[in-house]
Amino acid sequence: MPTPVQRQYWELKKQNPDAILFFRLGDFYEMFHDDAKLCARVLGITLTARHKGTDNEMPMCGMPYHSHQEYLETLITQGYKVAIAEQVTDKEGKITRKIDRVITPGTNQGHSLNPDQNSFLVGVIENREETPKSGKKSKKSSYALAVSDLSTGEFRTSFFENEILFFDEIYKLNPREILIESDLFDDQELCSRLPKGSLITPRKKINEKSARQCLTEHFKLPNLESFGLEKLTDQIEAAALVLKYLEETQKTDLAHIQKIIPYTTDHFMHLDHQTFRHLEIFDPLYQDENTATFISIFTKPKTAMGARLLRQWIAQPLRDIDLIHQRQTGVLELIENYEITQSLIEKFKHISDLERLLARICTGNGNPRDLAYLRDSLTILPQIEQTLTSAKSDILTSQNNKFSKFESLINLLQKKLVDTPPIEMTNGGIIRNGVDTKLDEYRSIAQNAQHWLDNYLSEQKEKTGINTLRVKFSKTFGFCLEVSKGQIEKAPKDWIRRQTLVNAERFSTPELAEYETKALSAESQAYNLEYQLFCQLRDEIVQYVYPIQEVAKSIAKIDVLLTFAKTAQKWNWNRPTILKDHNAFKVKDGRHPVVEKVSTETFIANNCTMSDQSNFHLITGPNMAGKSTYLRQNALIILLGQIGSFIPARSAQWGIVDRIFTRVGASDNLAGGKSTFFVEMTETAHILNAVTKKSFVILDEIGRGTSTFDGISLAWAIVEFLHDKIGCKTLFATHYHELTELANDLPHAENYHIAVSQNESGIIFLRKIQKGGVSDSFGIEVAKLAGVPKPIIKNARLVLQRLESENLLTGKPNLFNIPKKETQNKISEEDLAILTKIKSINPDELTPKQALDLWYEVKQF
Ligand code: ADP
Ligand code: MG
Repeated sequence: MPTPVQRQYWELKKQNPDAILFFRLGDFYEMFHDDAKLCARVLGITLTARHKGTDNEMPMCGMPYHSHQEYLETLITQGYKVAIAEQVTDKEGKITRKIDRVITPGTNQGHSLNPDQNSFLVGVIENREETPKSGKKSKKSSYALAVSDLSTGEFRTSFFENEILFFDEIYKLNPREILIESDLFDDQELCSRLPKGSLITPRKKINEKSARQCLTEHFKLPNLESFGLEKLTDQIEAAALVLKYLEETQKTDLAHIQKIIPYTTDHFMHLDHQTFRHLEIFDPLYQDENTATFISIFTKPKTAMGARLLRQWIAQPLRDIDLIHQRQTGVLELIENYEITQSLIEKFKHISDLERLLARICTGNGNPRDLAYLRDSLTILPQIEQTLTSAKSDILTSQNNKFSKFESLINLLQKKLVDTPPIEMTNGGIIRNGVDTKLDEYRSIAQNAQHWLDNYLSEQKEKTGINTLRVKFSKTFGFCLEVSKGQIEKAPKDWIRRQTLVNAERFSTPELAEYETKALSAESQAYNLEYQLFCQLRDEIVQYVYPIQEVAKSIAKIDVLLTFAKTAQKWNWNRPTILKDHNAFKVKDGRHPVVEKVSTETFIANNCTMSDQSNFHLITGPNMAGKSTYLRQNALIILLGQIGSFIPARSAQWGIVDRIFTRVGASDNLAGGKSTFFVEMTETAHILNAVTKKSFVILDEIGRGTSTFDGISLAWAIVEFLHDKIGCKTLFATHYHELTELANDLPHAENYHIAVSQNESGIIFLRKIQKGGVSDSFGIEVAKLAGVPKPIIKNARLVLQRLESENLLTGKPNLFNIPKKETQNKISEEDLAILTKIKSINPDELTPKQALDLWYEVKQF
């Protein structure tokens, strides 16, 4: 028979089946059954049991209330959800429990949040065109997406007309959690392709009417016209999916979600997620490798808001020439005007993460210390405004009207909040003296307790003449006057006898009783009142959410421009000339920003000169020559330029690029599970479907993942397609020097190679790009350089000689036949060399002396 508490437990568990239930019992959170086992395992806490050894044995574990935060964060970071059931007193005065909030990876606001990154929660609606007859899903789906970051208040929606675009955006957002409708959740194929780090949460479908209602109620608007969302039904449904989830889990005000912005990715350069991976923009290609990423070359922004915006800007290079120029001009001004830059940097150091402060304050999680951070940040704003008045570039001056709106809020916070308030909300020490008379009174009572008692005692002594009179305190009887047995006669009649001891009697008096209630409760009343005043102050701030969020955005923007300026100075970068329409792509002395940073070698700069007449460069050179580096540096230069940054080159010029595609040959890219060649071809298909004349494509060793001839043939066909049909700019790297033929046949293609020089001890990498192809892949030389044992090198040279004698490209030699046959017969490399030697001689032509020499020579092998 379950106890009432157990019934409560099961009731709450039923409401939150997919969350771990933290069940409050006194000063502890307890977990039971499977939750307990899971927590014990994940958190390493001790598993015990109730009713041990009986039929209803109940596994349990727990943690003290005051130290639960750490455990909670661990669970959330590992992708679990936690529902917190707190104790409350119901109408009949009985203690019961209620879900206070549900914390999920996509709604967490705790300290495990990375300040430099957004923590996105995404809602997805799929629109599937069913083919009625077969009932199977047709390939054509479109997607509506809503994105929110509860920790900053950001809320956006978008629409993607096909799966490819949708997945690219999802990978770019890298959400902590994705909400999808239950029937979409059943589509295992789709779910398996969502980012691995995102928790997928199925949700009930919300119909259009309630979706609209959910949004209009939250934003307190008659319709969604003002957001430009009114007609975008799918996006409304996606947004409601997210907002409803936030409301259900947070159970609190979400006032910091002030608006909803429909966005389209059309304004941005398109970067698919493979390109992000290959260029190692945010993460190294292989997680276990400790290589530097592209984002790590930037000097760190001074504020968390700047750090988050930097990531967003990198993920969304621009296609709007005016916006690019605006950013460039801002960066240039900051480079040239040392005073402004230094002053801004100094000020920004003292600016807290306003977005996240506001989010915590609005959702009732903000503590007194947060309010002080906000106050101190706001206090700096007028100085920033002052600095910006001397700026000239549009992008800087246009931020300036947002900073001076907070005088009254600053005054309020300065007047009410103590200088350094505590983090704790209910233990006082938050509000200044003189703010509230009641609070002052409580405080003075609490602080002056001893003083009052001393006074009272000497008064009573005088009145009664009991010179041994003392004040005593006991838990049961509170404050009492103690009279020794010898003087008991002098005790006034109206004193109330409380306690009789061996040598004394204790009395209470009405004054003492009244004082007692006052003194004991004064402290807790002060705390309560302070908490209320603190909450009022917090509510006051909520009215300023919107303008503060706007300021935060301005600061973020300026901060990223500062980062661009500082980075350009640090690495000696220059401003590129980006034009709206321009056929050439010219880079003078370009460098790879990351390789340059991490490499111990001096980096050798290289040019790249492409035009309509020369839009396809086939780059050959041995492995390790620097082909991949060269390809990537040119792609990164374009990316940098179009986010408004300066670039690692002496100079550069190009017309707006609409997308950058990069593909790396399958053997360089062992993607999980699938055939590497299949992955390579899927990706290539993606490029071929989306590429335009304004795209920049880099293809690195593609066609390597299958037997050589298939691969080369496919590569060849792809190259011809890009060259003939598209005319985009393409850099194609391969170590197959045989492919140089290809460029000779195509009118707009040119051969380039990365030079190496050779001397008797092997090859030397010169790292310089030069016109023309190479006649040798130097594969064996590179193997030698890498330390492959000498006999093997020797043998490989021999095999190569034979292969080359059988014209590899025109004939149809079986590449793997020759060495295989010989290894099957277990012929050692020495034997092979001897055999080759012997086969090469004609005995009839030898003199006796030569024959003898030959024997000596053969013996030497
Ligand atoms: P490939 O693709 O031709 O096999 P990579 O581009 O991977 O060669 O380059 C191999 C290594 O050579 C890089 O990791 C880098 O350390 C070095 N390297 C490449 N290009 C340069 C350069 N221009 N200057 C200096 N070092 C370079
Ligand atoms: Mg390479």
